[in-house]
Amino acid sequence: MAGNIRDWLAPALYVYHEMTYALIPMKCGDVMDKDTSILEIKGVGEKTQKLFAKLNILTVGELLGTYPRDYDAYEEPKKIGKLTPGEVCAVYGAVCGIPNEKRVRNLIILNVNVSDGSGNLQLTFFNMPFLKKTLKQGGYYIFRGMVQSRGAYKLMEQPRIFAADEYRRQENQLIPCYPLTKGLTNQAVRKCVRQALSFYKFAPEYYSETLLRKNHLISRREAVETIHFPADYDALLRARRRLVFDEFFDFLFLLRENKEFSEKLTNDYRLAETESTEQFIEQLPFPLTNAQEKVWQEIRDDCGSPYCMNRLVQGDVGSGKTILAVLALLLAAENGYQGAMMAPTEVLAIQHFDTIQGYIEKYGLCFRPVLLVGSMTAKGKREAYGRIAAGEANLVIGTHALIQEKVQYHSLALVVTDEQHRFGVKQRELLAGKGRNPHILVMSATPIPRTLAIILYGDLHISVVDELPANRLPVKNCVVNTGYRAKAYQFIAGEVEKGRQAYVICPQVEAAEGEESSLENVVDYAEKLRSALPAEVRVAYLHGKMRPADKNRIMEEFAAHAIDVLVSTTVIEVGVNVPNSTVMMVENAERFGLAQLHQLRGRVGRGEYQSYCIFVSTNEKKETMERLQILNQSNDGFFIASQDLKLRGPGELFGIRQSGDFSFRIGDIYSDAAVLKQASEAVEQLLEEDMHLEREENALLRKHFSNAAADGVDFRSI
Ligand code: ADP
Ligand code: MG
Repeated sequence: MAGNIRDWLAPALYVYHEMTYALIPMKCGDVMDKDTSILEIKGVGEKTQKLFAKLNILTVGELLGTYPRDYDAYEEPKKIGKLTPGEVCAVYGAVCGIPNEKRVRNLIILNVNVSDGSGNLQLTFFNMPFLKKTLKQGGYYIFRGMVQSRGAYKLMEQPRIFAADEYRRQENQLIPCYPLTKGLTNQAVRKCVRQALSFYKFAPEYYSETLLRKNHLISRREAVETIHFPADYDALLRARRRLVFDEFFDFLFLLRENKEFSEKLTNDYRLAETESTEQFIEQLPFPLTNAQEKVWQEIRDDCGSPYCMNRLVQGDVGSGKTILAVLALLLAAENGYQGAMMAPTEVLAIQHFDTIQGYIEKYGLCFRPVLLVGSMTAKGKREAYGRIAAGEANLVIGTHALIQEKVQYHSLALVVTDEQHRFGVKQRELLAGKGRNPHILVMSATPIPRTLAIILYGDLHISVVDELPANRLPVKNCVVNTGYRAKAYQFIAGEVEKGRQAYVICPQVEAAEGEESSLENVVDYAEKLRSALPAEVRVAYLHGKMRPADKNRIMEEFAAHAIDVLVSTTVIEVGVNVPNSTVMMVENAERFGLAQLHQLRGRVGRGEYQSYCIFVSTNEKKETMERLQILNQSNDGFFIASQDLKLRGPGELFGIRQSGDFSFRIGDIYSDAAVLKQASEAVEQLLEEDMHLEREENALLRKHFSNAAADGVDFRSI
């Protein structure tokens, strides 16, 4: 365990520092604005700068825009006898007996017993032998950590230790928890934010008085200050509401501009129906579902109409959207034009490329495809650019690489974006801008009701694939506690022996430092799983921080069945299609929104085999288990998301995101649906009254949008 004893024993010291930092002159002695380098913050040297860079934080603006992902409050200590496993809480107790030190390989394990009269608690510390001297027998301390159970007794691993008065001083304060990386502690980030805030020159409020009042919004400045250091819970909710409103407002404003523009576009590429699409459908090993048929008809109608297609295809995971995209692309190719398909990750782009390559070989489709992703060599890319510009390639599949300046298309008639919610509107526009008003088809698996879809995709017509292929066996689910792990591993080993594959999802990439919660992480978990499973089971891991080329390799190996069990973060949640996988095990399932768990579940049950989901919850609280049980009751993504919200109080808004979809930074389309509607109405009204923001009261708002445009800000980028 890194970090020194002061990190553990003296959080109060930091509060003190935080307060005094504002008084210490800064290095530059000047004010900070959003572009000021974080190096100007006192205490940030090159080493810390590098750590922040890992979190994509280079400037003070980016630091202040990194909102806490959760808040912790030091609550009243509980009686040991009343502790529930899975909860993070504090106890006030006395050390009984002498701490017991053990060595296991290069790990020093220190066990300490604590009692408060109502029960006993065992504390375990790793590699902190010095605590033997600190924790005196009979001494009273407050220990705070995650309660676990081992058979009859309760324990905490690596709890934080406080002197009683020190703890009391901070009791019930909301402490922001920031996204971290190895080497950067929460306290360090907090200190930097505190200092940045006190020197930050906020831009003047850009909403008009009327807009602020009508929507009951606090000022932007107050919101930013409060989201980092809330005085109490009510203030926090008010701050959050303003920031969520802003995010939606910006997004919807841009969307409306886009709509004004795209509605008027006439169709330069009338795509005539051809026989080959129908032949292809007939040759497929399965019939199209009625829903697929219906949407395919809508797509054909659009492509032949006097106006450009602007269509969203929405359908739950596994409803078979890819084939619809392939059909549309085939239509473009048959008419002698180019089509492009953009996916949010390389893994997904490569998967689509391979699928279509397979179709070409099997059914002799007229595609001349080319792949374009960031991790390709410069030479590979140049070759691809050449083939695209010359019109030699009539199908381009890739990631954001498709919209790079260097890519010149020859006759781009159709652009498809898969998993649209992962992209910004700007990115979709950029791709469309590569052609002369091409047709646009976007696909999304996010389950949202029509009213929300109309707001979020205001510029598109909406098709829904509301039916799953008939041959699917429903996925079997179970919600269990950590005691079930051994059985789950046995089960996975059994499926692997039958020739199937499995996913195990953990919420974190690597062990975070100084964190009290004990979330499972991909790297350590893969190691643990290797020793728990028979030696011949091939285990590998995947996470978003790996190099793209490595991610692709792992995913390809998994698709080719050179890996049996893939331990991963939620990077695999979008679009991945490996029908041979039959087990989805999710660790710390309580940390995920149900909509996201549903999305993860969609990775299995995609083929002919019976599939299983195992949701492991560390938290045994009744409500948590009940919430997870909803996944058992329904396969309808939207129903699941809305039930989840009903069961959750406003106090659980933080920490858990309903889904990883829609890359809004703070807003969540499910839990903030009401704010979304308000923002939508505000935008409508503003445009009605002052379309070009020419009124005096909207001058600063106009500046806000033109600054954003100059910065190339995409309000919904990944
Ligand atoms: P999603 O809608 O999640 O993108 P995919 O397009 O990846 O789903 O389809 C999931 C799987 O279902 C693929 O293996 C695909 O070949 C298969 N599939 C698509 N349409 C049908 C159908 N009508 N009947 C049976 N299987 C289908
Ligand atoms: Mg898909």
